[in-house]
Amino acid sequence: MPVQYKDYYKILGVPKTATTKEIKAAYRKLAREWHPDVNPTRKKEAEEKFKEISEAYEVLSDPDKRKTYDSLGADWQQRARDFAGGVRYGTGAPDGGGVHFDVGDLGDGGFSEFFQTFFGGMGRSTGFGARTRRSRGDDVESTLDLTLREAYTGGKRTLSLQTEAACPRCRGTGNDRGKLCHDCRGTGTVQTQKSLEVTIPAGVHEGQRIRLAGQGRPGIGGGANGDLYLVVHILPDPVFTLKGDDLYVEQPVPIYTLALGGEVEVPTMTRPITVKVPAGSPNGRRLRIPGKGMPKRSGGYGDLYVTLVAQMPTQLSERERELFRQLADLAQKR
Ligand SMILES: [Zn+2]
Repeated sequence: MPVQYKDYYKILGVPKTATTKEIKAAYRKLAREWHPDVNPTRKKEAEEKFKEISEAYEVLSDPDKRKTYDSLGADWQQRARDFAGGVRYGTGAPDGGGVHFDVGDLGDGGFSEFFQTFFGGMGRSTGFGARTRRSRGDDVESTLDLTLREAYTGGKRTLSLQTEAACPRCRGTGNDRGKLCHDCRGTGTVQTQKSLEVTIPAGVHEGQRIRLAGQGRPGIGGGANGDLYLVVHILPDPVFTLKGDDLYVEQPVPIYTLALGGEVEVPTMTRPITVKVPAGSPNGRRLRIPGKGMPKRSGGYGDLYVTLVAQMPTQLSERERELFRQLADLAQKR
């Protein structure tokens, strides 16, 4: 059942920039003109028209409702789907300042489906005039575990999240035909599994918060949804240690290379690179490789620190043992 978009400004014949006073004046004029009581010969048409005018005024005269309405962009249908099955909000009687005509007894239907989706039902249960406090839904925080590689490259990721949604049985009221709702135990909310696609920026940091607007707790009484904050947690990596924007790696190097100098292949977040080992390097020597760390927030990259770890030969042959003995003799004579 597709929801039909309503152009409330057009219905009242006012520009989008109209002041509350102008909106009230336009409503007053049209409501007088179209009130069913003064149109006995075309009652049906007048009722429809009057309902439409009242609905437009209900939204545009209320700063919060008008803001919600104005914020409905090209994605309003998606938002309508999000709202559908959600909380049916009570409707406050607009402060008509003496010009409001009661439409509570206009028969079936009440306001349009579009109105009811975004601004709540004019249902018989809530009644026209029952005022529900409007409040924005709470923000929700959730941890987003990322591998170091995911943090490095960023990209899209589909998350399955446990979230709160308005209880479908009682439509978020907690009241199921006069009884405490069985499904939500009267809380009005139930736990559901929600699938969300998130774009992770490259080089996200530990503790960084990614905001997903409108994905928090549902609003109450027509209030906006809260936001969802994903707090990044970077999982320990088997190869690299992360400190700030820099990466640390331990690289085993044969003692011969440490003593005589040479080259060693070192892993990076992209492809392995060849690093020069200076002759006479002590065990544990740390080499800095600029720009091979994590992406920085300010642009550029951190550094990679390579710790050279001496790799001793094991299972020596007789010949090797002999040569080590000679080395030991030479060292003693120095
Ligand atoms: Zn319920």
